[in-house]
Amino acid sequence: MTDAATTTPPTAAAVEASEPDAIATYLATDGADVVARMNTDFADAVLLVGRVLGGRPEATSAALVGLDARGVDAVAVDAEDEHRCRVDFDEEVTDPLMFTAALLGLVVRAREVSGEEGLTRAEQEVARLSAIRTFVTSVVAVEDVHPHLRQITFGGGDLHAFVPNGPDAFVYVLLPPPGRTELTVDQSFSWEAVPDMAEADRPVGAYYTVRRWRPEAGELDVLFVLHGDTGPASAWAARAQVGDPVALWGPRTSWDPPADTDHYVLVADETGLPAVAGVLDLLPPEASIQVVAEVASPAERQDLPDHPGATVTWLSRGGAEAGTATHLLVDAVRSLEWRGDHPYVFGGGESRALTEVRRHVRDERGCPREAVSLVAYWRHAADTDDAVEAAAADDGVEAAAAAG
Ligand SMILES: Cc1cc2nc3c(=O)[nH]c(=O)nc-3n(C[C@H](O)[C@H](O)[C@H](O)COP(=O)(O)OP(=O)(O)OC[C@H]3O[C@@H](n4cnc5c(N)ncnc54)[C@H](O)[C@@H]3O)c2cc1C
Repeated sequence: MTDAATTTPPTAAAVEASEPDAIATYLATDGADVVARMNTDFADAVLLVGRVLGGRPEATSAALVGLDARGVDAVAVDAEDEHRCRVDFDEEVTDPLMFTAALLGLVVRAREVSGEEGLTRAEQEVARLSAIRTFVTSVVAVEDVHPHLRQITFGGGDLHAFVPNGPDAFVYVLLPPPGRTELTVDQSFSWEAVPDMAEADRPVGAYYTVRRWRPEAGELDVLFVLHGDTGPASAWAARAQVGDPVALWGPRTSWDPPADTDHYVLVADETGLPAVAGVLDLLPPEASIQVVAEVASPAERQDLPDHPGATVTWLSRGGAEAGTATHLLVDAVRSLEWRGDHPYVFGGGESRALTEVRRHVRDERGCPREAVSLVAYWRHAADTDDAVEAAAADDGVEAAAAAG
C-alpha cells in the first residue's frame, strides 16, 4: 500500500464539501488520484470487478479509466482484446464522502457474485484501516521555524499509547469544524460515521507526518507548511495555541522498500521533507541515499539529519508559488546518476510534480511499481477535470498492462 488512498478518508476538501456541486468539485480535485490509486494499489480488486461485474470473465488485467457519481468506466484486457466496460454503483453517490464506500461496494458485490474465495488488497486494506485508532490530545508547544513553517507539538490525552509504524508515519489531524473550538469527534471516531454527521459538526483536517515522537514524554512534533487561509488545516496551524484540542487518526505509512534495495532516492517538496528527514534518521550509515528537495527559497530549507551516505540537492522555486514549478523535481531526478541497480524511490509533494517524477522513474528508468512510493501529498488548485483522463491514461492503462 503506497498511498493515502481510496479506502481511506477523502481529503479535507471532501470533508468540507457541502455545496450542490460538491461531487463535481471532488471529482475534479480528487478523481484522478482515486482512479490512479485504485489502479496502482488495488489492481487485483479492479481486476475482480472487471472480470465479474464488467462481464469479462477471461480478463487478465483491468484498469479504471473514469469515475463519476453513478459508477466507474473500466478497460478489461483478455487474450482477444481490450474491452471497455461500465459498472454502476449500488446507488448514486450524493456526497463525496460516499465514494470510498461506493468503490468498496463494487469489490464486495464482485466477491459475492463470483463466490470466489480470497481477499484482494482493497479488502485487506479495509480490515487494516478499521483497526486504526484515534488519539485525542492537544497542542503543548508551538514554534515558528520560518514564516511558512510551524512546528506544533502534541501531547497529553491518550497520546502516550501512540506507536509510530514507519519513518514517515503520518496521521490525519482532525480539527474542530470551522468557527468552533471544541472537537466534535472522540476516540470512537470512524470515517464511515462522518457522512451521517450534521455538516456543521463534521471535523476538518489533513494528513501530516510525525516528524519526531518522544515516547518518554508522550509527545510528537509535526511540521505544518503555512500556505495561508485557503485550507482549514493551514489556517488552524497558523493560529494554533497551547491547549487547542485535536484528534489524530493513525498512524499509517507509505515506506515499503523492497528487500533488495541498494540505493534510495528521496524526492520531496516542503510537505514531504518531514518524511524524508524521518527516513534519514532511520537508514543505517552505510546506506546510499540521494535527496532531491524543493523549497520556495534557500531561506526555507528544512533541517535534515546528517547522514554520511546522503547527498542532498536543494532546488529553489525562487519564491514562486508552491505547485507552479512542476518540472523542477523531475528535471533534477532526471539528471541524477543513480548509484545502485535496485533503487527505491520514495517521497511526497505536489501531485502533478510527483506524477512527472513517477512517470520518469517508471517509464524512463524502468523502476518496478513496488520500488516507487511517490505520494501526492497535496494538489495545486490549477488541476482540473482533465487530470482524471490524464491519470487514467498515465497510470491506469499502464497498470492494466503491468497486471497482465
Ligand atoms: C501522507 C501525507 C503526509 C503529509 N505530511 C505533511 C507534513 O508533514 N507537513 C505538511 O505541511 N503537509 C503535509 N502533507 C500535506 C497536507 O496534508 C496538505 O498540504 C493538505 O492539503 C493541507 O490541508 P489544508 O486544509 O491546509 O488545505 P486544503 O483544504 O487541502 O487545500 C486548500 C488549498 O490550499 C492549497 N494547498 C494545500 N497544501 C498546500 C501547500 N503545502 N502549499 C501550497 N498550497 C497548498 C490547495 O491547492 C488548495 O488550493 C501531507 C500529506 C500526506 C498525504
